[in-house]
Amino acid sequence: MTLITNHMPTAELQALDAAHHMHPFTHGDALAQKGARIITRAHGVTLTDSDGNEMLDAMGGLWCVNIGYGRDELAEAAARQMRELPFYNTFFQTSHVPAIALAAKLAELAPGDLNHVFFAGSGSEANDTNIRMVRTYWAQMGEPERNVIISRKNAYHGSSVGSGSLGGMAGMHAQGGMPIPDIHHIDQPYWYGEGGDTDPEAFGIERARQLEAKIEELGAHRVAAFIAEPVQGAGGVIVPPDSYWPEIQRICDEHGILLIADEVICGFGRTGNWFGSQTYSIRPDIMTIAKGLSSGYAPIGGSIVSDEIAKVMNACEFSHGYTYSGHPVSCAVALENLRILEEEEIVTRVAQETAPYLKEKWQTLAAHPMVGEAQIKGMMGALALTPHKDSRAKFASKPGTVGYICRERCFDNNLVMRHVGDRMIISPPLVIKKDEIDTLIERAWVSLDQAEKLTRDDGLMQAAA
Ligand code: PMP
Repeated sequence: MTLITNHMPTAELQALDAAHHMHPFTHGDALAQKGARIITRAHGVTLTDSDGNEMLDAMGGLWCVNIGYGRDELAEAAARQMRELPFYNTFFQTSHVPAIALAAKLAELAPGDLNHVFFAGSGSEANDTNIRMVRTYWAQMGEPERNVIISRKNAYHGSSVGSGSLGGMAGMHAQGGMPIPDIHHIDQPYWYGEGGDTDPEAFGIERARQLEAKIEELGAHRVAAFIAEPVQGAGGVIVPPDSYWPEIQRICDEHGILLIADEVICGFGRTGNWFGSQTYSIRPDIMTIAKGLSSGYAPIGGSIVSDEIAKVMNACEFSHGYTYSGHPVSCAVALENLRILEEEEIVTRVAQETAPYLKEKWQTLAAHPMVGEAQIKGMMGALALTPHKDSRAKFASKPGTVGYICRERCFDNNLVMRHVGDRMIISPPLVIKKDEIDTLIERAWVSLDQAEKLTRDDGLMQAAA
């Protein structure tokens, strides 16, 4: 077989990709026709593709490259660990230093009494762990009928059968037999899209009280846990009204329901604190972590659980785990990533400088004629595209039609933004500099202008009835 390298012509790489590589969340035939964009290297916030284009990665990979690309320290930590102990499991009463050190470090960083870590290879795996953990916890407590988990529509908690069931993505549930039984979904706190004329804070309370109504409908004795992202990421960066989380916390407390904060995106600095739970004063019993834990340099996820849950779970054998639970190389990389986040005071810098600057600039995009709102929390933002600003109207076209046009314009202008339906979203590396933020905003504005023109030319600037 020919040696496949970065130096091969793009068309050859695309042909091989189409022939042999099946992509996640992708229409394979459509991609084969178009050819995948092939990324060859990256540094800081900049990606280089196989044609030599340099793009500003406003998505931080997939919400994960918090410390930016190209940090040699992480490569060295991985190489060191691979030489010393490339793999050992943590199943049969064995452990190793990287897993011990990372669990101890996470216990130090996590708020409250979240002092115990069950490792996984990804966010999806960690949320699968959570499903089994909360149900086993209640069974151990003598309440085996408490097996219902309440989540939210348009939430994203992963793509395995369990975590995809926790998620509230209708398109995912339509394929492959999801959701599994005893997962229920309430509405999301998405004021811009669903709040109508209600005051945003009143709407936040209303949506939180759906949790209480659902608990009462099902019977509190049947409900094990509620799971939610502090800020919904993949659903389109849905920032809840300030009233929402305190009311959710009250309801969980009053009904004795476990609260799982899915921190896969919000964790490790994205909202300006180490965890989104701190930003919203949430007191979770379990936090799901992944992504920013290793800045995406190595696959790793996990569940950080409270003293109480650990005490109960440790009193039984939990028949659960993954070959790569606490993989030593991933743990070593994560530890080095956390060292950099801490020593370079990246989270503090986000809170004090970078996020306020990004917010100020991002909100200037709200003046664009096709932008209905420019939402932002910390280092995650969204633009709602609209044919009619004042009424917050949706487009008449299939959701995502205009968003896709805009995303393609962004790519052509060397800016990686993603679209979720007709919302454009960003989640850049936390280390993005002010001049790079300026470039991001300039490219976004140009792309919005071009997208607006194309939308008009294609006759798509129509509001849904
Ligand atoms: N939870 C949240 C909030 C996520 O955003 C994601 C991934 N986007 C996951 C879980 C799943 O993580 P993974 O893709 O690592 O399985």
